[in-house]
Amino acid sequence: MTTLFISDLHLQEERPEIARALLNLLADPGKNVEALYILGDFFEYWVGDDGITPFQDKIAHAVKKFSETFAPVYFMHGNRDLLIGNQFAHQAGCTILKDPCIIDLYGEPTLLMHGDSLCTLDVAYQRFRRATRNPIIRWLLLKLPLSYRISSIRKLRSNSAKQGPMKSRDIMDVTSDEVIKTMEKHNCQRLIHGHTHRPDRHTITVNGKPAERIVLGDWEKQGWILRSDDKSLELKSFPINQ
Ligand code: MN
Repeated sequence: MTTLFISDLHLQEERPEIARALLNLLADPGKNVEALYILGDFFEYWVGDDGITPFQDKIAHAVKKFSETFAPVYFMHGNRDLLIGNQFAHQAGCTILKDPCIIDLYGEPTLLMHGDSLCTLDVAYQRFRRATRNPIIRWLLLKLPLSYRISSIRKLRSNSAKQGPMKSRDIMDVTSDEVIKTMEKHNCQRLIHGHTHRPDRHTITVNGKPAERIVLGDWEKQGWILRSDDKSLELKSFPINQ
């Protein structure tokens, strides 16, 4: 059996080729897939489940079809789509996971995270993150009129567009101390996360033993997927056709 991991697609109407690459993957995920994990920043932005666009709705449909045809889908919030809620989860037929979360990946306890909480050098962002993860603040944010949320996100997006695509918060790398502290706390020798747009596999030392940190890639220039079975893990890129 095989388990798939993806993150940081930053799906948006302006990049239809990325959505097409995802739809192709969902229609033909390969043999014996038993689960798909989406580790955040699936969408470029999310104003709330009540503001789902026809584009986002189409993606939700495709995810649901995948879950009915092939395997269950698990979704973890990223910083871009942290307002995704139960209505979307229902529409897309997926289960929302807490960040962090531990899964048993073919016998190996594996820690899953989006990765933004590991970038502790960005102190201002960590403050913002704690606030937006607070259930009361989330509830209040979602109580704001939809039109206001849409115009705020539009403003944020046009500001970050000036800095180049997908930049801003996502360019920070993780702090190694925080990685080791987090893995030791959860007693895991393997971590899989996204967010930093630095796809790679790092051998590190956790609890005095060799451990691994696997970073998923963003889909800005090519697609990235991690495939795991009971024998091996493979982090691979593939072209996104225009
Ligand atoms: Mn992110």
